Amino acid sequence: MVSRVIPVDPFDLVIFGGTGDLARRKILPGLFRRFCAGQMPENARVIGAARTEMDRAGYQQMIREAIAEFNGDFEHDKAQLDGFIDRLEYVAIDAKGEDGWAELQKLMAGTERVEAYYFSVSPALFGDLAERLQQWGMADAQSRIVVEKPFGRDLKTAQALNATLAKYFDESQIYRIDHYLGKETVQNLMAVRFGNMLFEPLWNSQYVDHIQITVAETVGVGGRGEYYDKSGAMRDMVQNHLMQLLCLIAMEPPARFDPDAVRDEKLKVIRALDPVLPHHIARGQYQAEPCNEAEQPGYRTAVGDPRSRTESFVALKTHISNWRWAGTPFYLRTGKRMAARSSEITVVFKETPHSIFTEDAGRHRNVLSIRLQPNEGITLGVTIKEPGPGGMRLVDVPLDMTFADALGPDGSEQVDAYERLIMDVIRGNQTLFMRGDEVEAAWAWTDPIIQGWEARNDVPKPYDSGSDGPTDANELMRRDQRQWREYSA
Ligand code: NAD
Repeated sequence: MVSRVIPVDPFDLVIFGGTGDLARRKILPGLFRRFCAGQMPENARVIGAARTEMDRAGYQQMIREAIAEFNGDFEHDKAQLDGFIDRLEYVAIDAKGEDGWAELQKLMAGTERVEAYYFSVSPALFGDLAERLQQWGMADAQSRIVVEKPFGRDLKTAQALNATLAKYFDESQIYRIDHYLGKETVQNLMAVRFGNMLFEPLWNSQYVDHIQITVAETVGVGGRGEYYDKSGAMRDMVQNHLMQLLCLIAMEPPARFDPDAVRDEKLKVIRALDPVLPHHIARGQYQAEPCNEAEQPGYRTAVGDPRSRTESFVALKTHISNWRWAGTPFYLRTGKRMAARSSEITVVFKETPHSIFTEDAGRHRNVLSIRLQPNEGITLGVTIKEPGPGGMRLVDVPLDMTFADALGPDGSEQVDAYERLIMDVIRGNQTLFMRGDEVEAAWAWTDPIIQGWEARNDVPKPYDSGSDGPTDANELMRRDQRQWREYSA
């Protein structure tokens, strides 16, 4: 199957923080892949804007090296790389001062193109950038801004940030990025739910026993210790990524696949979430890897605070109080230094109401697994007769739709989430971006949980590196006579 490349309008993309980690690791290598796919129009430009003093040639060399480092096995020829590098401009700029702004204004003046400004800098600079874009006449009706996470650290700061951005830009110009929404499988989740007759009639508490969402990482906090310790798993992962996945799995069918229709439905899910009871949460902090403490230190050593109370793992149970989901628990868990790198949503259906088979045939449940990583794809567990002469015994077999297998060499060429989302910005499609009220509603749900921990001086339970998190997380399931699904490979 040959993937179709839909051209986008000519654009100028300014990347504030164009020399930073995210720009070099994800944004620019992703843009290069779009360039090679033929999706970047002839005269499109990418303008790095950052504090470092360097000239255009220096920036071009930096991005050449970044592409070599982070796009290692992506096949391309020299002419393609030269062609892309030729699109790059650079402006040394100070988000908080006046340096560089006149030069950027000159570069952007007089072009009739889509103008997008990617704020790939610390959130502390978002307001300054928005203000200066306006002062220098670049915040016009054609322009768009892309805002990275974290979007606030609680409801109050998110509201303040929304209010600041709203002074200079309309909501229709603001693209709050959550790269989980750019993943192929996440969009396929909507295609599977709303493009098939098969699932939607069963998609409710009458047929679904429970839903699990797991985002497990094998890495620790690495070099981000200082940032992470002020945040923790709840703020860094649950409030945004897991919440967005929960919304897409649980929302009502929107009337149309358009940005506001989809985001209205997601917002209703967040607003219908029950508060989480303290005994429905497990919180953990990873320990050093035994015999390898120097290379794989425990959380507290990694963040340099022997008394840190920040969680690197959280698991919780919640309910959605509406007609569709009343009575169906949703279990969410995410953590660092876990046994496997795996992001997966699992829908566990109820058993059939009555078994016509003898007891030793066994009872089974259908399970729909939606894998975001590794190996993006969807698997449906179906019960069949165990082959052979052993009588009527039941076994589960997977109906597997691993995208790389199902779609063949061209279709399996997975477009990275950042590439897809940046192209959506250029197209002016906000469907896969979070709206301001969604972000605030998500904070309004997570704030009381975090405040509860702070008020109780809650200390996260230690868990072994390479494990499934603290025992409390398994207990959360065991109490409900359920268990976490094994990670799929
Ligand atoms: P970084 O520290 O590597 O880069 C910061 C960039 O900002 C640099 O280019 C620097 O020159 C520029 N900068 C700093 N102060 C400036 C100023 N006063 N004026 C102009 N430019 C200035 O940061 P990063 O890791 O690339 O992260 C950028 C943003 O993306 C942050 O909001 C971060 O939370 C978010 N983010 C990063 C990642 C990631 O994997 N790195 C993932 C998700 C979100």
